[in-house]
This record gives sequence, C-alpha cells and structure tokens, in this order.
Amino acid sequence: MSVIWQPVTQTARKEHPCSWCGEAIAKGEEYWRWVWEDRGELVAVKVHLDCRDAWQRDGAEFAEPSEARRGMTMDETAIYETTHPTCEECEREFHAPEATYCNVPYLCPDCARAMKAREKREAEDAD
Ligand SMILES: [Zn+2]
Ligand SMILES: [Zn+2]
Repeated sequence: MSVIWQPVTQTARKEHPCSWCGEAIAKGEEYWRWVWEDRGELVAVKVHLDCRDAWQRDGAEFAEPSEARRGMTMDETAIYETTHPTCEECEREFHAPEATYCNVPYLCPDCARAMKAREKREAEDAD
C-alpha cells in the first residue's frame, strides 16, 4: 500500500462519507484527503479534520468506517460508549458518570425518574 498523493486539506464541494467515522463531511466543510494505491487500485481517503487527528493519535494504518466515533480513536470510542449508553426506554444517548455494564435495564435520568414515579404511584394504588 503506497501513498500516491500526500494528504491535502480541501473544502468539500459535496457531501462525502468520512473514511474514519462514517459520518458525512458536510458541503463547505474542510476535510483531509489523500490517495493511496492498494493492489493496483486507487483509493481516495477523506476524513474530517478532527478524525484525522484521532487517526494520527490512534496510529492505525487504516480503519473500517464507522467503527470509531467522530474525532475519537478506537480506544476513546470504547470508553465513550460505556459512559454514554443508550437509554432502553427513550433510546436517547445520555452521559453516565461511570462506565455502566451492570445496570440493566439502563435508563437515562429522565426515564429513571419517570419509572420511580410510576412505581410509587402503582405502590400507592395497591394500597
Ligand atoms: Zn469523521
Ligand atoms: Zn430515557
């Protein structure tokens, strides 16, 4: 695998998927682009500037798109995902202060409050 064109910063004339995080690089946004040759095929790589920084921090030669989050290395993505679980009730991502593996079902503070209130009401109704 050899780099044909050295990385350059370009402004997107249309949307491109980012080769690092898989999210769109918006039209008009600056991104980093380079081309390499892989077994006789030219591969253009386009990444967000913050993804470029993450990629360089990560030291990975190449990543599958959307395995990492935007601007994060794979390790940072893994940590982020344990501290930003998805609420099982409203399916919103929320921030948990500590890594969460054991709290099942895991609810965001809003849904946890709502569930407590519901349980309290049901307990009162049962009287
Ligand atoms: Zn990206
Ligand atoms: Zn929720």
